[in-house]
Amino acid sequence: MITISNGIVITQDARRRVIQGNVIVEGDAITSVGKQSDRSDIVIDAKGGIVMPGLINMHTHVGMTTLRGAVDCSNLTRFLEETAKFDRRNTREKVKESASMAAAEMIATGTTSFLDLYYSEDAIAEEAERAGIRAFLSWVVLDKEYTTQVGDPIRNAEAFVKKYKNKRTVMPSFGLQGVYACSKDTIQETDRLAEEHGTILHMHLAETKEEVRSHVKKYSMRPVEWMRRNRFLSSRLVAAHAVWVDDKEMSMLARSGTTVVNNAVSNARLGSGTARIKEMLKRGINVALGTDSAASNDSLDMFQTMKFSALINGLTAQEALDAATVSAAKALRCNTGSIEEGKKADIIVIGRRQSICPLSKKNAVSNAVFAAQGSDVAKSIINGAVING
Ligand SMILES: [Zn+2]
Repeated sequence: MITISNGIVITQDARRRVIQGNVIVEGDAITSVGKQSDRSDIVIDAKGGIVMPGLINMHTHVGMTTLRGAVDCSNLTRFLEETAKFDRRNTREKVKESASMAAAEMIATGTTSFLDLYYSEDAIAEEAERAGIRAFLSWVVLDKEYTTQVGDPIRNAEAFVKKYKNKRTVMPSFGLQGVYACSKDTIQETDRLAEEHGTILHMHLAETKEEVRSHVKKYSMRPVEWMRRNRFLSSRLVAAHAVWVDDKEMSMLARSGTTVVNNAVSNARLGSGTARIKEMLKRGINVALGTDSAASNDSLDMFQTMKFSALINGLTAQEALDAATVSAAKALRCNTGSIEEGKKADIIVIGRRQSICPLSKKNAVSNAVFAAQGSDVAKSIINGAVING
């Protein structure tokens, strides 16, 4: 039993309450919020700092972390050409090294769950389990002519999902590179498998103007419109980017229950543009936040991403925090994202630093989003275990 005491608790519950009181964790779950406890094996003193749900990074490629700083360009097409060169000589050992670097960085900066899109996800799963971070891993599928994977990407993805289905902190799923590398048949078969296995489907969608232009040339339809026409939009779809969507397509995303992941830093870094996130929220689209890989961000610090995304999209602190916690958990169909009785215990503690003071119940959410940095995180609890600090 763990008691976290003496903190201002941002619960992210349905009423978005911020309270002062203890949080008690037993096993892998939160069993009490705001009440006193008389006995505990471990007491974590938050020392007047912030106690909040761990952040959820909804779009990463952790296998690319060793590429941080390697590609200095502001154009996605060129960026992909450069990273493809790396993929061709990549090894399982290199993927593991990358994943372990990413896991350490994410845990240290307050991320307790991440959603990845890559190949060799089995190697990434091993490193995530070793580090103790909750991992949602989508094995990427693309047409055979584009892949650097050994074997058929769809069969690789299916074998991975079957093998990792019943793990405690690793949740396998299906992924797609994007409409520019996946035919209609490839998407159809992958989506069917995701439905059959009850997993999400995670993909890049409408990331650049060029993607839309070439899709219109090929199919006479914009990517999101084409996805809807083929019945590929659904509540299991997690679409990273969605920078280039028109009003009609926004309605399609909203109606289908598709989650959009905003990667504001990466989009700016690669000159892809700015997604219309504020409008998406107004239309009721479920919006989450991601960093994208360290090769195009270059940080996996979700505090930085929350702040940048809020600033560039004109979001309130509460909207940005929702996107990084409860909305992400909803998309992942995971019982995390808030500090409430019965939820899985994924909690972080931010130390009371000068940079987040004055601190009160009233300004805690604003200070967590706009003033705090990942390096302010003093403790992380994931699935009921104290992972750092
Ligand atoms: Zn990406």
